[in-house]
Amino acid sequence: MNDLEESIELRNGIPIPRVGFGTYLIEDGNVVTRAVKTAIDAGYRLIDTASIYGNEKGVGRGIEESDIPREEIFLTSKVWNTEQGYENTLRAFEASLERLRTDYLDLYLIHWPKPASSETWKALERLYRSGKVKAIGVSNFMIHHLESLLESCEIIPMVDQVELHPQFPQDELRKFCGEHGIVVEAWGPLMQGKVFHVPLMKALSEKYGKKIAQITLRWHYQLGHVAIPKSSKPERIRSNIDIFDFEISDEDMKKIETLKGERIGPHPDRIAF
Ligand code: NDP
Repeated sequence: MNDLEESIELRNGIPIPRVGFGTYLIEDGNVVTRAVKTAIDAGYRLIDTASIYGNEKGVGRGIEESDIPREEIFLTSKVWNTEQGYENTLRAFEASLERLRTDYLDLYLIHWPKPASSETWKALERLYRSGKVKAIGVSNFMIHHLESLLESCEIIPMVDQVELHPQFPQDELRKFCGEHGIVVEAWGPLMQGKVFHVPLMKALSEKYGKKIAQITLRWHYQLGHVAIPKSSKPERIRSNIDIFDFEISDEDMKKIETLKGERIGPHPDRIAF
């Protein structure tokens, strides 16, 4: 991949790759280590994990054992709900670093909005100023969560990682983030596997001679945000990043807009965890 074209600059000038590798539900140990090595080998330079995924050790080993130096990998982790609050977050961050066998993160996110998130954010600001993390952001923040954080923060979040896919394109949030210089990162970009059953995406796959996953990830790319598909299968890991040799027409991009429906994952204001 061409680094210049395939990354977006965060507000502080740090480039974030446009397609990253998600690791949710990939088992710790050799399984995730192998998957991360395959992903890096295939060209992914962004690896997304979280303390709650329980696989940071294996992810760290995958990066360490890959042929690419740590500085060329954009590594993201997240502070889990029960770890929020100022002191807890500082501790959780150190624990993540230790498990990941690294001395810095490229991006650290608040995993879900919680009452303690403004205190958590202060800890992230401190970590950012200390240089231990190159960029800080949030995840699953809706517009109203961002508005309240923007009132109290000293550093504006650089990223909001949210559920986003053809059925749930988050138009308003993307607009809001665009206006505030917050880069949007799509989790569940393949609708957690459900996109493979959407008739329009099947039809477009046949029309373009590309896999459904490639059509979907190309749609994300053309909308201009970051997407972090997950697969545990080497062939899929490789083909999911192979989306740079075709373009979806404006007409077909508009057709995909008609899919609008419900979110698949939990509503950020109604999470029970
Ligand atoms: P995705 O939309 O990436 O879908 C993953 C599913 O699609 C898996 O079942 C995978 O199966 C399947 N799949 C992937 N590629 C293909 C393909 N080419 N052909 C057929 N099936 C395929 O869902 P995720 O929930 O994993 O989201 C991506 C990442 O986002 C996560 O891994 C995680 O890093 C992050 N995330 C963040 C959240 C947050 O709250 N911030 C919440 C959820 C996810 P298989 O593995 O068998 O290939």
